[in-house]
Amino acid sequence: MTSAPGSPTGTQRFDLTGRLALVTGSVRGLGNSYARALAGAGCDVIVHGSGSSLSRAEQQAAAVAGEFGVAAHATAFDVTDPEAVDGSLARLMAEWGVPDILVNNAGIQRRGLFTELDRSDWDAVIATNLSSVFYVSQPIARRMAERGSGKIVNIGSVTSSLARATVSPYGASKGGVVMLTRSMATDLAQFNIQVNMISPGYFRTELNTALTSDPEFNAWVEGRTPARRWGEVDELAAALLFLCSPGADFVTGQNIYVDGGMTTSL
Ligand code: NDP
Repeated sequence: MTSAPGSPTGTQRFDLTGRLALVTGSVRGLGNSYARALAGAGCDVIVHGSGSSLSRAEQQAAAVAGEFGVAAHATAFDVTDPEAVDGSLARLMAEWGVPDILVNNAGIQRRGLFTELDRSDWDAVIATNLSSVFYVSQPIARRMAERGSGKIVNIGSVTSSLARATVSPYGASKGGVVMLTRSMATDLAQFNIQVNMISPGYFRTELNTALTSDPEFNAWVEGRTPARRWGEVDELAAALLFLCSPGADFVTGQNIYVDGGMTTSL
């Protein structure tokens, strides 16, 4: 069986040159590494931060443009505020175009024993990690559907499938992202939009400073992870680039764990 005429071959299967990518929460942390990975693969990128982070987003966009020679734009809005999301996305798409790639990465953590958590912790985590995926994806998916193509990558966690003490809102939100990803994939496949997930293991960022500075937790991560170490932030890039590439046009609704084997063993 040969490829259909015009089908990508060889490295074209992974070619992202000239695609426009929006990565939420990309002023720092893992989101910043996703934006840089996409820019390194030739994408124009939109760097995004929370409402108060426009100047940091502008700095990061300038750094990415300078380093990778792509167009890089900056935006800042609160992903938990549907009106801010709608207004910002409408402006952004009018100015820079409809993203080819959306990475729903923005997230927060609030820790506490189930009996001691405040309701406000629950609401904040569910809004930031789960509802935001719906809020941000819907207006963009509508425009991707009109165009007839798009890639959406949602960010989960090992807590998408495994519970851990003191993070019940986070686990619920990341478990929710699994079913939202599958539901989005199911509804959007007819428009040639693929929706997948990456679930990182433990990576050192500001999100988990409380853990990285704790020797006991360090030892736990190294003992519990079959690879016997934390992940290096760059190790998430290849999975992201694959899911965003033409090579993944028939891959949808999937969740790739990049976790050194943590979720595959007790
Ligand atoms: P960081 O805390 O380093 O960065 C979080 C990013 O999300 C920031 O850019 C922040 O913007 C943005 N953000 C937070 N709240 C909002 C909001 N309401 N509106 C807009 N943007 C917001 O986190 P990580 O890089 O560690 O995590 C990124 C994602 O990866 C999260 O979804 C997290 O759950 C997930 N993850 C991380 C793991 C890890 O080991 N680090 C492991 C598994 C999953 P600003 O700076 O402007 O506040």
